[in-house]
Amino acid sequence: MEFKYDKENIFAKILRKEIPNDTVIETDFSLAFKDINPVAPVHILVIPKGPYVNYDHFVSNASNEEVLDFNNTVKEVIKKFDLDPERNGAGYRLIANTGSNGVQEVPHLHFHILGGRNMGFMVSRP
Ligand code: 5GP
Repeated sequence: MEFKYDKENIFAKILRKEIPNDTVIETDFSLAFKDINPVAPVHILVIPKGPYVNYDHFVSNASNEEVLDFNNTVKEVIKKFDLDPERNGAGYRLIANTGSNGVQEVPHLHFHILGGRNMGFMVSRP
């Protein structure tokens, strides 16, 4: 499968520091930052620093170190915002909108971590 990465997407610009962001966690391979248009009291985006369009592209091409770091950064965000129900948090929703049916707006892999309120049904019925 051929993936085409658009270097001018907004998250690529954030990674190049051409536009600002509200960073929550930064590692060698990943960045977690606040969504500019939050839909929940906690709305964090986690992205790999590498040029990957979606999760499939990422896990097929990234190094083990990048994949581990990305997943660990997700875990650290959950910890930082006390979201883990096993640790007395109230839980969260993890979303990766992908492609046109997934209604992905920004073509750089990102996980949304949503928390701080009940998120309701997963998707509306057609
Ligand atoms: P998608 O629909 O691709 O899953 O989600 C893209 C997300 O990126 C949206 O929730 C949107 O609010 C967020 N977003 C778009 N542009 C920016 C930006 O410049 N900065 C930040 N922090 N978030 C952005």
